[in-house]
Amino acid sequence: MVGLSGRLIMEGSRPVNGGEASRSTGRRDVPFFTQAETFADLWPLISARIGEVFDNGKFSHGKQVEEWEHRLAEYTGARYAIGVNSGTDALVLLLRAAGLTPGDGVLVPAFSFVASASSVVLAGGRPRFADIDPGTYALDPAATEAAITGDTRFLMPAHLFCQQADMAALGGIARQYGLRLLEDSAEGIGMRQSGVHAGLHGDGGVLSFFPSKTLGALGDAGAVLTDDPVLAERVAALRHHGRRGRTLDHFPGISHETAEPGMNSKMDDIQAAVLLAKLTRLEADIARRAELAEAYSERLADIPGIIRLPGVVDRGPDSRGVFYVYLIEVENRDELVSHLAGNGIGTETYYPVPLHLQPCFADLGHRRGSFPVAEAACAHAVALPLYPDLRSSDVDLVCAEIRAFYGGKAS
Ligand SMILES: *Cc1c(COP(=O)(O)O)cnc(C)c1O
Repeated sequence: MVGLSGRLIMEGSRPVNGGEASRSTGRRDVPFFTQAETFADLWPLISARIGEVFDNGKFSHGKQVEEWEHRLAEYTGARYAIGVNSGTDALVLLLRAAGLTPGDGVLVPAFSFVASASSVVLAGGRPRFADIDPGTYALDPAATEAAITGDTRFLMPAHLFCQQADMAALGGIARQYGLRLLEDSAEGIGMRQSGVHAGLHGDGGVLSFFPSKTLGALGDAGAVLTDDPVLAERVAALRHHGRRGRTLDHFPGISHETAEPGMNSKMDDIQAAVLLAKLTRLEADIARRAELAEAYSERLADIPGIIRLPGVVDRGPDSRGVFYVYLIEVENRDELVSHLAGNGIGTETYYPVPLHLQPCFADLGHRRGSFPVAEAACAHAVALPLYPDLRSSDVDLVCAEIRAFYGGKAS
């Protein structure tokens, strides 16, 4: 390494945050999310790769992005992995590339991150909601079939928290009704069902590398996954202003001819560099997340006030859930959240507002009561800290505070 990279990297300080002792209790705080130790551990790898970016001088769609797309395709088994700016952009690009035309209905769950449905509007379509299955928080197949209307052309389930939707059942419905099957698999890295990685059960899916995701970058980044060369080429063009041909080697040759208006959703090489470094630890991180989730479930098993603990449904051989989020459902959720916050413990509510009641979808005319399972989940769900830096003693602490709140006896 020479020049700028040498100076920046060798003298650069490590990122530090989280895990500080609380002033109020004198105890170690448990933030909802931190990756300070992960980054410290990976710093030699990350800094070497960022150094390569500086030396190479190409900060967007350069060599790191190219290598990242190859490694991600390898890891997921996708024929094409196309790096983009964010998971949300990946959804918009996927919908457009899959042939969505203005006014097309896209069936999505009433309970998810807002981008599951706003991406449909941004791509020119109309979200159509269906209720979820309690416990998996994914589209309920029977409710999905009942929600299909004359303008429904796409089915786009989301895989949330620790497992995938029932893709055998949903794939069957898509085939029966002639719908294109896309996946909001933004949370799905590492999840497999019958040997197929999340995002590859239908025409295509996405991944998000937002910092707090299972595999997170240092900012926003995402990917489209697909086995379809036509769809892949269109995504690759649309992420780069609609230009045909591109700088990466799936589709060599750069053209300034714009076939259709596209977006600027190119991926930064610095994000690709970070992700390539973090990929070396991904399987270990996934195993650690599973261990911590198991520890939570053991310690929380007999606490009154807890309505539901997470469980991964067995989807048959060669299937695997991945604990991105450890989500429980509880009574008096908001009071519990305040109690934990007062004791230095961070939580997050995924997702506080069901999509059909979001102001931005008011024109679709849904009311409270339209999707009761989704509404109940929004009222009771809370996510506890879960990340590779988390210590087992942190899990003990969080569970002890939850027990103290509900007044359960120590086991
Ligand atoms: C994170 C997430 C997205 C959006 O990804 P970004 O990279 O944050 O744009 C979309 N859908 C779901 C289900 C997500 O969890």
